[in-house]
Amino acid sequence: MDISTICIHGCEKKYDATGAVSVPIFASSTFAHPGVGQSTGFDYSRSQNPTKEHLEHTVTALEGGAETIAFSTGMAAISVFMELFSPGDHIVASYDLYGGTFRLFSHISEKNGITFSYAANLQEISEKITSATKAVFIETPTNPMMNVLDIAAVAQLTQLTQSKKILLIVDNTFLTPIFQRPLSLGADIVLHSGTKYLGGHNDALAGLLTVKEKDLAERLRFISNTTGGCLSPFDSFLIIRGIKTLAVRMERHQETALAVARWLLTQNKIKKVYYIGLQDHPDYAVSCSQASGFGGMISFTVNDELTAVSILENVKLIKYAESLGGTESLITYPLLQTHADLPQEEREARGINACLLRLSVGLEAADDIIQDLKQAIGSVK
Ligand SMILES: *Cc1c(COP(=O)(O)O)cnc(C)c1O
Repeated sequence: MDISTICIHGCEKKYDATGAVSVPIFASSTFAHPGVGQSTGFDYSRSQNPTKEHLEHTVTALEGGAETIAFSTGMAAISVFMELFSPGDHIVASYDLYGGTFRLFSHISEKNGITFSYAANLQEISEKITSATKAVFIETPTNPMMNVLDIAAVAQLTQLTQSKKILLIVDNTFLTPIFQRPLSLGADIVLHSGTKYLGGHNDALAGLLTVKEKDLAERLRFISNTTGGCLSPFDSFLIIRGIKTLAVRMERHQETALAVARWLLTQNKIKKVYYIGLQDHPDYAVSCSQASGFGGMISFTVNDELTAVSILENVKLIKYAESLGGTESLITYPLLQTHADLPQEEREARGINACLLRLSVGLEAADDIIQDLKQAIGSVK
């Protein structure tokens, strides 16, 4: 079955007898038992809810693997897999990460006795793995600098011996299973901020973990049920609804992003454009080898801070706001928004400076997005 069909029919389990083609929102915190020691399969919605289960089955069908667990946000999903680790454990993470992930690692996980090393490329990941390393966590492409890591090559590094493997966790928020399926490349856990492309309409928060092996999925489900950050039935419904059009949206986000990236390249106030779909992107070949598309995220630098601020203050159609992956185009200032909590030297080393902007290309017509950027750039004194 094609992935675009799986988006719509990925969960064929029926939860009611009315013939409803769209899964109902089961707004029930608890479920009555038919008898003592018996269950309908549902007991209490923190443990599982039919609408949430429908979403989880759909995402498993898209990413592959044994099971998916849905959470209230992407950060709640990350917090849950961090509970797999104990004081003294070490994690190697990709250098350029979503700012909130870095904040969780540095402000919460470190306090709990977990140590981190950050690596910019394959070579560094290999050098930083020690006998205490329990996991490698990567984001590819990275946020906001759009570096791409070879997932299969990282997976090889995590296979220490034939029988001993450390976990490889991949944040697949930017490309989604439409373009990239990390489990098929050797990852153990795939993470999504469902808030972004999966939901796709800038109207709901969600997080998802898809797990390759059943045993690990069960451990994570135990932690999820115990800590309680589950996704609500209503938000599960919104993400299911979003996913139905995911394939169509991703194609369009990408087509428009390529047009916008090419136009940005022609502007003399724009210094550098980071879009993985441009052939001169340093990781273009790796992208083509492991992903079937390039997505809708572009970062770019302008010639000075004044230009950056002026673009942010003058865009009209495009909104100056955090987040990404929705119908509305959003422009972000990583320095003051998503990556504000990074120490200054870390930020500068990553290239996150006052001239860097990140654009989530929405589903408006390419010409309208370009016209808006044009008038915003033109308004720079
Ligand atoms: C937004 C985001 C997260 C965090 O997800 P929330 O749903 O905002 O908690 C994690 N990783 C990436 C790449 C993101 O863009």
